[in-house]
Amino acid sequence: MQDPNCLFCKIIAGKIPSKKVYEDEHVYAFHDIAPWAPIHFLMVPKLHIPSMAQITPENSALMGHLLALAPKLALEQGCRPYPEGGYRIVTNTGAEGGQEVHHLHFHVMGGP
Ligand code: AMP
Ligand code: ZN
Repeated sequence: MQDPNCLFCKIIAGKIPSKKVYEDEHVYAFHDIAPWAPIHFLMVPKLHIPSMAQITPENSALMGHLLALAPKLALEQGCRPYPEGGYRIVTNTGAEGGQEVHHLHFHVMGGP
């Protein structure tokens, strides 16, 4: 369930290099190539889903798995613990939502 023309599908398949943060059967996480914060990585489902706009209740388990990983990975990547530290999780959706890559991704950003 990959799109051969999709940048993030190519990254997941290893056809385009990336700096891996985490990988399992369903999720791939890697450092953003143009970070907006000292710590900035992206979490993507391996399944090609274009955006949050396509998410249905059938994707609940996948979305839960993905989001539940974010706090663990953020701390591992150097974000300081809540409440003094923390991070932002952002998902741009559609043109007016600022989405440039149309493979669903969660930005995790933090650091001083
Ligand atoms: P968005 O605007 O939410 O679609 O964000 C797309 C993100 O993908 C941007 O923050 C880009 O810097 C990032 N990006 C684009 N190409 C790559 C790449 N080859 N490796 C890592 N991150 C990338
Ligand atoms: Zn894709």
